[in-house]
Amino acid sequence: MMVYSNMDIGAGHVGMHKMLGNMSMKPLGKKYQYYQSVVLDAARKKVNDVLANSVRAAKDFYTANNGMYDMKVIFDGSWQKRGHTSNLALGAVKEAETGLVLDYETVSKMCEMCTRKTNLLQKKQISKEDFEKWLVDHKRKTL
Ligand SMILES: [Zn+2]
Repeated sequence: MMVYSNMDIGAGHVGMHKMLGNMSMKPLGKKYQYYQSVVLDAARKKVNDVLANSVRAAKDFYTANNGMYDMKVIFDGSWQKRGHTSNLALGAVKEAETGLVLDYETVSKMCEMCTRKTNLLQKKQISKEDFEKWLVDHKRKTL
């Protein structure tokens, strides 16, 4: 529950470590990542269940024609922050009559691995050649 609450307020692993230290409690160490993955897996399962139920309910609202639904949908998106400074965005497909969200996608301009590797390059802990080789492979795997 503490890891979930910590994730909810966006304090992250470092925030949890500081909070436990302030309360003279032992840090969670690698257990934090384990509990974080448990919370994220449960959240993904819940979201998938909700989306599946929404799709079923939206289909029930319409009449199928040869297995196809002439469904009215709306796509809309939002950024986490106003202006052009946000790194996080969300897009969602809603069924127009019921307002049910049928699908969504989140996107981020930030990549933790790229930030980490760039920091290693700036500290000259890896060579420019190794960084560029890693970056080509990273882009191939993530794009
Ligand atoms: Zn990246």
